[in-house]
Amino acid sequence: MNKLQKQMKQEFEDKELFDQARDYAYEYIDGIEDMDVFPSQHNLESLTNFDEPLQQKSLQAKEVINQLHSFGSPATIAQIGGRYFGFVNGGAVPVSLGVKWLSDIWDQCGGLYLTSPINAMLEDVCEKWLKDIFNLPKETVAGFVSGTSMANLCGLAAARFHLLNKLGWDVHKKGLNGAPKLRILAHEQVHASVKKTLGMLGFGTNSIEWLPSDSQGRLVVDAVPKLDDHCLILLQAGNVNTGAFDDFTKVCDLANQAGAWVHIDGAFGLWARTTTSLSYLAKGMEKASSWAVDGHKTLNTPYDSGIIMCRYPDALVSALQSTGEYIIYSEHRDPLLYTPEMSKRSRAIELWATMKYLGKDGIDQMITTFHQRAKQLEEGLGKIGFKIINEVVFNQVLIATDNEEKTKQVIKYVQESRECWVGGSTWQGKQVIRISVCSWMTNEQDIERTISLFEKAIKN
Ligand SMILES: *Cc1c(COP(=O)(O)O)cnc(C)c1O
Repeated sequence: MNKLQKQMKQEFEDKELFDQARDYAYEYIDGIEDMDVFPSQHNLESLTNFDEPLQQKSLQAKEVINQLHSFGSPATIAQIGGRYFGFVNGGAVPVSLGVKWLSDIWDQCGGLYLTSPINAMLEDVCEKWLKDIFNLPKETVAGFVSGTSMANLCGLAAARFHLLNKLGWDVHKKGLNGAPKLRILAHEQVHASVKKTLGMLGFGTNSIEWLPSDSQGRLVVDAVPKLDDHCLILLQAGNVNTGAFDDFTKVCDLANQAGAWVHIDGAFGLWARTTTSLSYLAKGMEKASSWAVDGHKTLNTPYDSGIIMCRYPDALVSALQSTGEYIIYSEHRDPLLYTPEMSKRSRAIELWATMKYLGKDGIDQMITTFHQRAKQLEEGLGKIGFKIINEVVFNQVLIATDNEEKTKQVIKYVQESRECWVGGSTWQGKQVIRISVCSWMTNEQDIERTISLFEKAIKN
């Protein structure tokens, strides 16, 4: 054993470095409710501490962890706390962080049954549970990817394979040059990740047939043209601004009659389906062909966790084949068949733990609470003079003041207070403030405190 090996073995066995990491993490958790939700200028500037040339000699593990904690922890976004309302990021259920620690030590390569039987098993279990709580057709399969962007990519690749295959064209072998032309239909409110994905798959955004959407960002169903078996339609469960849902039943019925493919981007919204009081929002979603959803947003698993679910297993697996050869199913699940990656993080572990811990009732309760807190915000902010721009059907609250300059000032005031964090957005050409409630930790007091802050901001 050389000196470095000896040192690492020592560090592995005496576990001081792990104790150190744990102590720092506990300190972080204990301070989460009081820390700046967005780091101070000073703490951001201190990040330059990391901007150094790679030194020649190896260090002690503790020196590395110390640097990360000293300059990294204070420069984090307090996303696991109760007052981060930016984007649609989501907190992390404690047990999911606990199992992540344990499974980080396992360091499993999640690609094959042979490289991680436990991951293959938990992917299987998650697939079954997801089909159950989303009420999806029994033939549906799931792949576990880094997020909804990647899940959209997989779903659209499956659609491309499936539609072209039915038209007698093997896109895997022949590529897109000379292929029958597919029609991509989307409304203006599709998420940026969908546009990015279409580009990556060789469908330029210029080739999309754009459809109109209404004041909430929902597809205008009457504007859907006559469909045929060359069509891929993109729908959305949960608009990133308004939280609105498209009308799945009508569009899926039309598409299914015509042999078209419907993909639903449901990054955060799809979870509405798993609740009692909000499932009406996602009515008819089971009639689609593929669904993309995140664990790391509404379900509050740690990053990263996205899921592609597809009712045509052959299409998904064929589209993601690295060899292009016919599929070899092993006796057990081989996770790489359902994802673009080969080696991959065993992220189903945290997804499994989160669902197992919460159970169906816990998932329902957590997600319904996001909605209740969003309604509390809507009411409180409305009372103090903000305009509520959207119908608060789920967890998103979109607000503005009477004039755009003032709205910008409010954003600045709130962000600089560091008591909570919300982002600006534009909605139908106007400056708005987007508030997303999606952390299990957000309680009534967090919302009251946030409303008081907005009151100070609008009066300022
Ligand atoms: C967040 C989001 C995405 C992208 O998901 P990632 O997990 O960030 O890759 C796609 N669509 C919608 C509607 C989203 O909210």
